[in-house]
Amino acid sequence: MNYYSTNGKAPIATLEKAVVKGLAEDRGLYMPEHIKQLPQEFFDHIQDMTFQEVAFEVASAFFGDDILAADLRRIVDDTLQFDCPIVPVKDNIYALELFHGPTLAFKDVGARFMARLLQYYVKRKATTSGSVNVLVATSGDTGSAVANGFLGVEGIHVYVLYPKGKVSPIQECQFTTLGQNITAIEVDGVFDDCQRLVKSAFMDEELNRHLRLTSANSINVARFLPQAFYYFWAYAQLKRRATASLDEKGEVTICVPSGNFGNICAGLFAKRMGLPVSHFIAANNANSVFYEYLQTGQYQPRPSVQTIANAMDVGDPSNFARIYDLYGKSHDAIAADISGTTYSDAEIAETIRQTYAETGYLCDPHGACGLRALESQLQPGHVGIFLETAHPAKFRDTVEPIIGTTIDIPARLAAFMQGAKQSVPMSKDFADFKEYLKLKIEK
Ligand SMILES: *Cc1c(COP(=O)(O)O)cnc(C)c1O
Repeated sequence: MNYYSTNGKAPIATLEKAVVKGLAEDRGLYMPEHIKQLPQEFFDHIQDMTFQEVAFEVASAFFGDDILAADLRRIVDDTLQFDCPIVPVKDNIYALELFHGPTLAFKDVGARFMARLLQYYVKRKATTSGSVNVLVATSGDTGSAVANGFLGVEGIHVYVLYPKGKVSPIQECQFTTLGQNITAIEVDGVFDDCQRLVKSAFMDEELNRHLRLTSANSINVARFLPQAFYYFWAYAQLKRRATASLDEKGEVTICVPSGNFGNICAGLFAKRMGLPVSHFIAANNANSVFYEYLQTGQYQPRPSVQTIANAMDVGDPSNFARIYDLYGKSHDAIAADISGTTYSDAEIAETIRQTYAETGYLCDPHGACGLRALESQLQPGHVGIFLETAHPAKFRDTVEPIIGTTIDIPARLAAFMQGAKQSVPMSKDFADFKEYLKLKIEK
């Protein structure tokens, strides 16, 4: 399968090129040329399949022409070494828990898949070209997922750019303590500055002449498309529970706490592939650019503001370009499939507190946006799933004061907190970052 750019001015790319380059030459995002509809038979039997089997079917639809089935199956199986269960929270409302991976957030799925796919390509080319440098900007969870997904992978070096003082201490130690082939870069700016530095590096001809640069941000198709896996798996689990748990049309409403809109975009692809979703809800924190787009038809990016759901502090969601393209640039079509919400920190906190008091279920701040949005928009008689995108312990400094008790830290999270922080300080000026990367070339 080939990939085109959302800006329409770059050459068509193979999967390998799309994965290694990340961003197209014209700064557009790569999109698969076709989205295969999965056969009815798959949906009829999905409840009898394992997560890996479901994911392999979905992966084959995208990557089956480019990767041998046996290799693809190994990459999928190796990626999904943990479950993504659905858990009932309230009547007709389920959490899809995406935090059972190594860094306790949904980004583990895409990051692990991409690391394995990139390694597959690097290995095949090991004799002809040098190592690959992965640049990734993070507002918190991307950095840890990517760094851990790539840790120790030969032939690949990862640079994680993160905004100084704007990620939680627990998030920070998940990518600053690893060493080996992982370098953390602490940028004196906000997330959008980090993202700009990464994008500028990809556009810089001089750097690209000497360095093989690739992006592991959610713009990379190898990170973004595998996120479709768990939408199908959530549906399989619902079906397994009882047919009564779906609405009269056999459909489900899905609510996605959104920042860069990669996760929800993968869900929209899943729907195109035939997943019976009646409606998507994009839950935003105070960074409400998409919400406003839905109301007004005007897309007006602006600097992000800091919130307690900090992985969604994005003022110019990169995957908006993909959604816009997927729906033929039609505001009406987008608004027909997706509705939006925006919540203040006070509303998010209230949702965490109330849900915990009423049900015993503890949401993280991102999942809380999702739950609140789903509760407010779910139609009577319908069934909804919200994505619980991270474990609440990752945000314990926020969550503990809200509920007034301490929470248990899972062992795999506590282990990160033992290590010593190592990071490279950096200004938000691209010239400085470029100088730094050039020094790496000379070495
Ligand atoms: C990254 C992240 C989000 C936002 O996902 P996008 O794909 O950027 O929309 C939401 N919640 C958590 C916990 C995250 O880490």
